Amino acid sequence: MGSLMSTLRNRRPTGVAEYPSARSPSVRTPLSASTHGGLIVGLGDPLVLQRVAGNVAVGAAVAAERPLESTQAALAQRWYRSHSDEYTPRMLRLIQERVHAPVTGRVSPAFVQAVAAWQRRFPGEVELDVDGIAGPAMLPRLFPDGLNELATARGYWTASHAVREEWQELGPVERVGRLVNEVNVALRETLVPQASFRGDDSVQGTARFQPSTWEILFDPRILVSGPKAAGMSGFDLTENVYHEARHAEQVFNMARMLAGSGLDEAGIQRQFRKDGSPGLPDHVVSRAWAYPLQRGTPLWLIAKQMFDFIYGHRGQKRLSALRAQSRKAEAAKLAALERAVTHPSRETSEEAALARIRADLALRRAEKAAPWENDAEETSYLLLEESPAAAYQRDRRPSAYEQR
Ligand SMILES: [Zn+2]
Repeated sequence: MGSLMSTLRNRRPTGVAEYPSARSPSVRTPLSASTHGGLIVGLGDPLVLQRVAGNVAVGAAVAAERPLESTQAALAQRWYRSHSDEYTPRMLRLIQERVHAPVTGRVSPAFVQAVAAWQRRFPGEVELDVDGIAGPAMLPRLFPDGLNELATARGYWTASHAVREEWQELGPVERVGRLVNEVNVALRETLVPQASFRGDDSVQGTARFQPSTWEILFDPRILVSGPKAAGMSGFDLTENVYHEARHAEQVFNMARMLAGSGLDEAGIQRQFRKDGSPGLPDHVVSRAWAYPLQRGTPLWLIAKQMFDFIYGHRGQKRLSALRAQSRKAEAAKLAALERAVTHPSRETSEEAALARIRADLALRRAEKAAPWENDAEETSYLLLEESPAAAYQRDRRPSAYEQR
């Protein structure tokens, strides 16, 4: 279960039937979406305030919030102190700037409350735990980088439009090939080695990134008959390619983090093989070694936390349990659906509807527990112009500390 191959697993088909235009409203805008078209929808939303009054007012509004009880705040402070090798004064200052806390480089009640306020207000698709701990789920949102930068996502999205205009004339393999080409342009900009692709029978429904061969593997039906054969729309496919490419970037950054932590190429490879996995292609490791992530930077910490989670025992155990629950809920859902078909009644159809909700919730819980899925999901969500994740980045201004 600790293997990178199994953790970067298949995505579920999203099942959206049509291919939306860039300007059409988001197909999956979550309920928390509150800023559209620059109109003020909810007062008190930091994005809205930021448009209206700038960072000073936001800082004041956020500073006034106290989402954590005092015992929770104490727990969060203790957590930072026990991770002080990673949360150095420099790192704390960077986080404090972005969450509009006093920039002291020290852990305080005001700091953990400001982190919690930011978590509560973050408008992303995957809700963050409001616990005051700027950990693996929150840091990639706080410090967008690479494919998670709006400009990069927009570049891919615009290029995928050209592909879409020719969609009807392209064969299934060409469609995927063109999208992978475009995502490789984005990967090249962010230093990540180019990914290739092929169909693989082990993939069902969507796609999966395979680090050992640096390939995006697709459900073979997508390459034979097109995305619809796997229950996906053209948009789903466009989004999936970006999602899997983000996994490539995550893995590459983990290798760069190990290089920045002082390992040579053989040492990096050993880290990726330590659970019996086949490791990474040598050219990927060489490139990572040539571009180390500087120790103590946000990108280094994000990669380190993700790496530790994948290879760490505790994170994996929790994840396995949640995934087992999800599989059980999925099986119960299918059984309930079958009963509703074979014995149609109000009771069986209500049971089926409930079972579907339970299965969805269990899947979300399992996905949320894996920081790399959380991150890839939010990253591909940037493709939707109207999405809260995109609005957040559009409105974010560099802080004084970052400009220094
Ligand atoms: Zn994924």
